[in-house]
Amino acid sequence: MEKFDLIVIARAVITMNNNADIYEPGFLAIDNGNIISCGRYSEEIPFKSKELLNLPGHVIIPGLINTHTHAPMVLFRGLADDLPLKKWLENHIWPMEKKHVSPDFVFEGSLIACAEMALNGVTTFVDMYFAEQKVAEAARKVGLKAYVGEGILDFPTPISPTIDDSFKRAEETIKAFLKDPLIKPMVTPHSPYTCSKDTLKRAHLLAEKYSVPLHIHVAEEKWEFESFKKDYGKTPVKYLNDIGLLDSSPVIMAHVNWVSDEDLDILSSRNVGVAHNPQSNMKLATGICPVPMMLKKGINVGLGTDGASSNNDLSILDEAQEAARLHKIINKDPTVVSAFEALKMATILGAHAIGAAESIGSLEPEKKADFVAINFEKIHLKPVYDYYSHIIYAAKTSDIDFVYVNGLPIVSEGQLKNITEDRIFEIADKWYHRIQEN
Ligand SMILES: [Zn+2]
Repeated sequence: MEKFDLIVIARAVITMNNNADIYEPGFLAIDNGNIISCGRYSEEIPFKSKELLNLPGHVIIPGLINTHTHAPMVLFRGLADDLPLKKWLENHIWPMEKKHVSPDFVFEGSLIACAEMALNGVTTFVDMYFAEQKVAEAARKVGLKAYVGEGILDFPTPISPTIDDSFKRAEETIKAFLKDPLIKPMVTPHSPYTCSKDTLKRAHLLAEKYSVPLHIHVAEEKWEFESFKKDYGKTPVKYLNDIGLLDSSPVIMAHVNWVSDEDLDILSSRNVGVAHNPQSNMKLATGICPVPMMLKKGINVGLGTDGASSNNDLSILDEAQEAARLHKIINKDPTVVSAFEALKMATILGAHAIGAAESIGSLEPEKKADFVAINFEKIHLKPVYDYYSHIIYAAKTSDIDFVYVNGLPIVSEGQLKNITEDRIFEIADKWYHRIQEN
């Protein structure tokens, strides 16, 4: 008899594999951080394991993937709301960043963000900010997997006085995490409107040099779309394709709200993943990503929270729930973005979008044991006819009780395992006073 590190038995295991298998009751057998076996649980199956997690009232889903965020920005949560994107960035966010952002700000802000994401069932997140090695440090402390990229812009950032310094930091960050089991480095030019053609080409070459993903904001607002058409006679997506940026593999594009039919064909023929951020886009009224069309064309669309200063929380379950509703009303069609598709975007499609589907995004042998247990012993989740329906239309993030990364708990019985809530409150309080007083 094989002896495993951990056996999980649950009311149901929602695999999100190619067959969309649901095992009811289900089990996962985990060894060395990997899923060795999973399936329908029956008492006849002889199991031996060092540990047993028996959850007869819980439903297991793959760990949720946040394909776009700016973790440290939790420290600006609720500071400037109800404004248009440009005004919000230029009059509020950028001046505040100039004043406050430091490696300490990034580390401590990211601790809050990682704690919040862990409690909300996120096991992997994709981050673009400054001093990103500190984001990685915070992710490691809380136990999350992170994709990190040093923000590159044509003008000075709060951390880098020059573009050359930004690139130097970007390369240092890549080298620091190239072989890391939890942290994956990326190259992250901010957007086609804040980076010149030369900067974008340089970013692409850096991504190629180390074979790492490239992450960028694209066509978030209508003015960006219109100004590229005016200045270059083409859309932002076509412009990026023509300068060779989409030869990077993969390219993770955040937003992609403004696209032509030709753009969709370009996206579906290249190794591009889309990070759809419904709540941030709705709040800043920047536009709506044409998700039903993208899904029809086989484009890998994942979900992102964006930063907590434009959202204002970091819950991918919320984003999936919002996406399922938003596209129905926008398209006046209740059949688009089904509950199943919404959960797919939060899990396996997100994994494909960031080029990580060989190890995460579904629960099946040989993948990493990143999973979330949702407590179905709740009045608002009774009776149960359809698991996908409940997860997307009725469950709350507070129903999430257990979160595991590489077979280890980062949340257990609703409590963080690697950092205390008191420490998080202390950090938030400290920065609240500093930011308020300046
Ligand atoms: Zn963003």
